[in-house]
Amino acid sequence: MEGCHTAGAIAALATAGFVALIAVPALWAGSMVVRGVIAAWRPAALVEALVDADGAAPRLAGWVAVIWLGAFGLAFAMFQSVWTMFAHTAFKPNTLSLLAPMFAVATALGIVAVSRPCAQLFAWIARRLDARWRRRGWRTLLRPPTIVAVAIAAALVALVALWRFAVKPRLGPIDTSLLHAPAAGVVAAAATHLVWLRLRGSRWWIGMGGAAAIAAVLATALATAIARPSLTLEIWGDRPLAGIAIEGVFSLESIRGRIPLAEFRPVARPAAAHPDVLLITIDTVRADHTPPYGGRAEMPALRELGTRGIVFDRAYAPSNVTRRSIPSMVTGIAPNRVRGRVVGWALRLDPRHVVLAERMRAGGYDTAGFMCCEGFWGKELHTGLERGLAHLEIEPRGSALAEKARSWLDVREQRADRAPLFVWMHIIEPHNWTQATGEARTEADRRANYDRSLTASDQMVQTVLTAFHRRASDQMPIVIVTADHGEALGEHGQPYHSTDLYDSQIRVPLVVAGAGITPRHVAETVSVTDLVPTVLDLAGFVPPAGASLDGRSIAELVTGARAGDPEGGIAFAAMIKDRSNPGGITAVIKGRWKLIDNNARLELYDTRNDPGERDNVLGEHPQDAERLRRLLGAHTAAASISPFP
Ligand SMILES: [Zn+2]
Repeated sequence: MEGCHTAGAIAALATAGFVALIAVPALWAGSMVVRGVIAAWRPAALVEALVDADGAAPRLAGWVAVIWLGAFGLAFAMFQSVWTMFAHTAFKPNTLSLLAPMFAVATALGIVAVSRPCAQLFAWIARRLDARWRRRGWRTLLRPPTIVAVAIAAALVALVALWRFAVKPRLGPIDTSLLHAPAAGVVAAAATHLVWLRLRGSRWWIGMGGAAAIAAVLATALATAIARPSLTLEIWGDRPLAGIAIEGVFSLESIRGRIPLAEFRPVARPAAAHPDVLLITIDTVRADHTPPYGGRAEMPALRELGTRGIVFDRAYAPSNVTRRSIPSMVTGIAPNRVRGRVVGWALRLDPRHVVLAERMRAGGYDTAGFMCCEGFWGKELHTGLERGLAHLEIEPRGSALAEKARSWLDVREQRADRAPLFVWMHIIEPHNWTQATGEARTEADRRANYDRSLTASDQMVQTVLTAFHRRASDQMPIVIVTADHGEALGEHGQPYHSTDLYDSQIRVPLVVAGAGITPRHVAETVSVTDLVPTVLDLAGFVPPAGASLDGRSIAELVTGARAGDPEGGIAFAAMIKDRSNPGGITAVIKGRWKLIDNNARLELYDTRNDPGERDNVLGEHPQDAERLRRLLGAHTAAASISPFP
């Protein structure tokens, strides 16, 4: 379920108006289709033809039973065939979606072929049962209204049972809240039709009243879109159907243009240098598999960065899935305060958010992005993650992406008059480690396969870094390598990510190297949400602070101005309920302690002595647990504070 913060009468009316933009034409078209079908087929006459002279309709019962069983048989065959192909073949989604209609046609033909004898058989059975019933002197059970009512009731029971026992257990958590409003609309439209048919004299007045109400909410919606752009975006983020209408009718970009965004031009510190910054995010990297963290994956480039830079030993991703982590990383706002709507795999940011590249660009930096994925950075999806990247290239294959980045940088390196540079590259390869390496038989194989994808990513990092190899050492860019989340690899019963907040899924590498940085390991806990103020700070700007930012600058830990406190620093992580994510889990890490709140079930771990988080020591350390519980409670409560001015 997407966030629900919007309140107030105007908001409610405007929401109704935006919904009406979609609902009124859709329901009108739907009712026209239903009326057309009724006019063409005249169901009453069809039913009439199947009623016997004695008022019983066994043939109708037979046909209703065939249609009923046929519909469920078709639905179940479709679900089962797609599921079987998904679970037992290597077909891709495109192939599955091509094969699915073929199965549908074949199954439907089979059902049609047997429908007549089946209907006759069911009619015969119904007639026998009804005859037995009537022998006791009772009225026939096979009157048409009874047959239809029983069929509808049975369909509802079967639907619930199928969903509960056959579909949902296999699909896992699924967000059905998106269907609530359309379902309510269909029910309301059907009820309106039934009432309308019973009305006689007052139709005109009621019709005019309805039209006036629709006109009023449409006018409120239009006025809101024009006069209150911020409220419009609020509704866009909170109400799925209204959001679709807002996106379809208005341009989010122009709505954004009418909002005085928080001043995001960063303020330069007097006489500060503005070094180049290269931010490399690698998808799905758990820290403990990489060399700076004692991991065995072959990663010479990251190893070398670790030996000449700062290694944050305890860096945490804000969430366990890309669509929640990356927005938090580039806005500096905790994942449970980032606003937006889920589109595909990504989060479309509320346009009121300002991202890191925009700030850098406003501060005079040249900006460029070399990103893996259309689904996150493509212009069509308007996620907002691409904002501020003056030069943007999207390429899914990491090796080609790195080559593109290097060529672009090579050309730029030739130029004499260069503005400072901010480059962001996101590599996807480790996310797809199972595809690249095939089926693994043992746990060790799985880990080795995963490590190979890390090695491949490291080569891409190396490719980009070579663009700077002609530079003098004091001219080297600040290079930051980190990840959006880890990968469970079987720990805590989870094969991949997005399912829990144990370190395997959220402890990520964070390595910062560059001119003037003295190599060191920092034991203080930090969050990747700290990236925005930290990068700005390192780039010679006053790090932004205040209610519209949750991250803090950790530049002092990078420059060595502060050593870092092993028991200090703090990181929050949240698993947000949306799309297919069960959500509802939050965690806080401070020093050695980590508290996980899994739907009010608390777990406390001493991550220093128990890095695998196997031993919940909640009972043994009640005071530490209580301290962390308060921190987490305050953090969760702050989620309702708007990040916008
Ligand atoms: Zn990811």
